[in-house]
Amino acid sequence: MIVSQLSDTGVTIDAPAKINLFLEVLNKRPDGYHDINSVFQAVSLYDRLEFTVTEETSISIDLVERNTVSAGKDNLIALAYQLMKERYGLRRGLKVRLEKRIPVAAGLGGGSSDGAATIAACNMLFKTGLEKGEMMALSAHIGSDMPFFFSSGQAHVSGRGEELREVELPTDYAVVLVNPSFGLSTSAGYASLKRDLTMSKNPFNLAACPTAEELIGSLHSCGNDFEEVHVKSHPELGEIRDELSRCGASLARMTGSGPTMFGLFYRAPDNIKEEFVGRGNWQIFTVLPVTLPAQV
Ligand code: ATP
Repeated sequence: MIVSQLSDTGVTIDAPAKINLFLEVLNKRPDGYHDINSVFQAVSLYDRLEFTVTEETSISIDLVERNTVSAGKDNLIALAYQLMKERYGLRRGLKVRLEKRIPVAAGLGGGSSDGAATIAACNMLFKTGLEKGEMMALSAHIGSDMPFFFSSGQAHVSGRGEELREVELPTDYAVVLVNPSFGLSTSAGYASLKRDLTMSKNPFNLAACPTAEELIGSLHSCGNDFEEVHVKSHPELGEIRDELSRCGASLARMTGSGPTMFGLFYRAPDNIKEEFVGRGNWQIFTVLPVTLPAQV
C-alpha cells in the first residue's frame, strides 16, 4: 500500500490490486481451507481510502460510487477496524471515504487490500505500535489474502494464503486486466474445483527470473487451477483470453478465483480499449506490476 498523506487526524492510503502470476490449489485441509501455491504480484490499480479520526468508537464508510460494495459491518474495512478495536481497545473511531476502483469479487484482492490498509491506518493514527509481521498475522484472521498487502508487493504464497515469502521479480512489462460483466465468489470457485482438482501433482517452483522474458517464459510451465473450470461454465472468459492473445499478450491467464483475466505484454499495447470495444460489457485496465514501500 502507498501512504500519500499523513497527519495526527487522518491518513490517505492507495490500496493496490494483485494478480496471481500462477495459482495452484493443492489439497483440502482438515480445517476446510485449501492449501495453495502461488506467486502474487501487486499492480498499479488502486482503491483510495481517506481515513479521518472521529470521537465516536465506531466506523462509518462513505462510498464515492454507491452500489459497488456494502458500506455496512460486513465490509472488510469495518471488520478490520473492529478487530483492531477488540485487540487494542481503540477509544476513537474512523470515518472512511472509499473510492473503489478495483472491481469487486474479481480475483484482484481489492477487499483484502482495503482491509490491510485499514489495519495500517489504525496502527498509524492510534499509535498501536505494531510491526509489519504483527499486522500480517493479525490480518490473516480476517482474510487469507490480507497479509500479502503488507509485503513488498511480490511474494510466493502458500498455506491457505497466509504463508508468505517475499521474492524479487522483474517489473519491466505491462499488464492488461479485463474484467467481464459478472463477479465470481471465491468459495463457489473452490466448490466447483472439487471435480477437476489434481491432488497429486508436485507444486510448481518459480526459479529466479532476472528478466521479464525469463519470467513470462517460466510462467508458461504452470497455470491457474480455477481457469478451465470457469472457462467451461462461462465461455466469455475464453473469448477474453483469445482476444488478449490476439492483441499480442505473451501470456493470458485468470487471476485468483476469477473472473478477471490478464495479459502480460513486453510493451504496453496501443489502443487496447478500442480493440475490445463492442466485445461485451468488459472493463479494461492497462497497469504495471509494482513493488510497494515497506510498512512499519
Ligand atoms: P480475494 O481477496 O479472495 O482474492 P476477490 O479479489 O475475488 O477476493 P474482493 O473484491 O476482495 O474479491 O471481494 C471479495 C468479497 O468481499 C466480495 O463478495 C465483497 O462483497 C466483499 N467485500 C467486503 N468488503 C469489501 C471491500 N472493501 N472491497 C471489495 N469487496 C469487499
